[in-house]
Amino acid sequence: MTNIIVGLEIHAQLKTDSKVFCSCKNSYSDDPNTNLCPTCMGLPGSLPRLNEKVVDYAILAGLALNCTINGYSTFERKKYFYPDLSKGYQISQDTTPICQDGYIELDSKKKIRIERIHIEEDTGKSLIQDDGTRLLDYNRAGIPLIEIVTKPDISSPEEAREFLNILKNTLNYIEISDGKMEEGSLRCDVNINIEDKKTGDRTEIIELKNLNSFSAVAKSIEYESKRQYQFLNSQNKEIRSTRRWDDSSNGSVLMREKFTEDDYKYTSDLDVQNLNINTDRIQDVKSKMPELMDEKAKRFMDQYDLNEYDANVLASNRNISEYFDKIGAKAKNYQLLANFFINEFLRRIDQDNFDESSLNYSIEDFLNLLDLLDENKINNNTGKKVFRLMFEEGIDPALYVEENNLVQITDDSFIDSLVEEVLDENPESVSDYLGGKDRVLGFLVGQVMKKSQGKANPQIANEKLTKALSLRKN
Ligand code: ZN
Ligand code: MN
Repeated sequence: MTNIIVGLEIHAQLKTDSKVFCSCKNSYSDDPNTNLCPTCMGLPGSLPRLNEKVVDYAILAGLALNCTINGYSTFERKKYFYPDLSKGYQISQDTTPICQDGYIELDSKKKIRIERIHIEEDTGKSLIQDDGTRLLDYNRAGIPLIEIVTKPDISSPEEAREFLNILKNTLNYIEISDGKMEEGSLRCDVNINIEDKKTGDRTEIIELKNLNSFSAVAKSIEYESKRQYQFLNSQNKEIRSTRRWDDSSNGSVLMREKFTEDDYKYTSDLDVQNLNINTDRIQDVKSKMPELMDEKAKRFMDQYDLNEYDANVLASNRNISEYFDKIGAKAKNYQLLANFFINEFLRRIDQDNFDESSLNYSIEDFLNLLDLLDENKINNNTGKKVFRLMFEEGIDPALYVEENNLVQITDDSFIDSLVEEVLDENPESVSDYLGGKDRVLGFLVGQVMKKSQGKANPQIANEKLTKALSLRKN
C-alpha cells in the first residue's frame, strides 16, 4: 500500500488596473508589446514602485485563507535566465512572505495547510512558431501575482480538485482574481511523490508543470503516482526533476532536472522597499471583506431551511449566490426554489461568467413560475418546459400557461374517466400488474398523462390508477 504526497503551488493573477511595480495597464490580451515601460522591462535607471492595491489584495487573500499577515515582509530577486524574463530576475518574496500559515478545509473536514502566500511579478510570454522561431510578448511581464504554496497535505486527485475548487471560489468571492485556469489567470504546479506505507521508502519529489485545467491536475496526480511506483523500494532512484504534463498523450514528459531554490541565487532587491503592514491596515482590509462562502452556506441553511449540500452548491459562486438571495428574499417555498434553481437554472448557465443582466426574464417571472408550481396550477414537467422558454425566449410564464392551456388537470371526475379508458385499452398491462408486476404502473401513469396532453397531476393519476386497479383484482 502506498500514500500519495502532493503539495501545490498556485499562481493567481490579480485584477488590478495597473501592473505591480509600474503604471502600465494590467492586460496581456492587448496587441503584443503595447503595455510596456522601462520599469517592467528592467532597463537600466528604471525604478520599481510597489502598487499598494496589490498589497491590499494579498492581505485580503491571506485573511480569506486563514493566514497570518506578517507585519514585515521582504522583496527579493529570483534570478534565472529565460527569454521571457527580460530583467533576468523576477521580483518575488523569498525570506519573508506577506502571509503564512493558513489552510483550506475540505468537505471531509480535513485541513490542507497553506505554507505561505507571497507577492511576485509575472513574466512575459514566449510564443513558439511552427518554424521554431520564438516570438516574445512582454505585456504580461510585471502583472501582479500571488503565489499560494501548500504543505504536502493532499493525498488524492479528488482532494487536489476539491482544494482548487474552493480556492478558486474564494478568490472569486473576494474579487481579486478571475481564477480561470484555461485562460492562465490561475496556474497550478504539482509537487508529488509516493511513500510505501510499510517500509516508509519514498520516491523523489517530481514537479509537474503546464497543467491547464482542474481535471488535468487530477489526471496528472493519478498518472504520476502510478509512474513513480517503479522507483519505490528500488536502488534505482529517479533524480529530482521537473516534468511537463502533456494533455494530448495524457502523460508526463521530462523537462529538466529540478532547479533547487539555491539555483535561483536570491538576493534582496534594494530597489523595492521592504513591506511594513500595521494592524490598522489589516483591520481596514478586513472591514471590506464580503460574507464568504462558508458563512453564506450556513446562512442559507438557516434562512432558507436548506440542507448542507444544497446550501453549499448555492453559495459556491458569489454572483450566483447573490442572485439566489434576491429571489429567495421574495420566495414562498424555499425548497421548491432551491430544487428548481439547482436542477433547471444552474445547468443552463456558464457559472464562471454569469451575468444577471443578460437573462431574458425577470426575478418576478421566476417567482411567478414558482407560484404556479407551488399552487399546483402546473405540474413539474410543464414547469420545466415553461422555464426553458423563459430562459431562451423570455416568455411571461403566467401568460404562456394560460394561452397554451397548460393548467394542470386536478379535476377528479375527468382523471377518473381517463384512468378507466387507459385500463380498458391495456388489458395485458392490467393482468400483468395484478399478477405482481408493479412496475407496469409507471407505464399506465404515462398513458394517462399522454391522454391529458401532459396536464394531469401525475400524483393524482397515480393514486387513482392504484385504486382502480385494486378494484379490478376481484
Ligand atoms: Zn511597465
Ligand atoms: Mn512563482
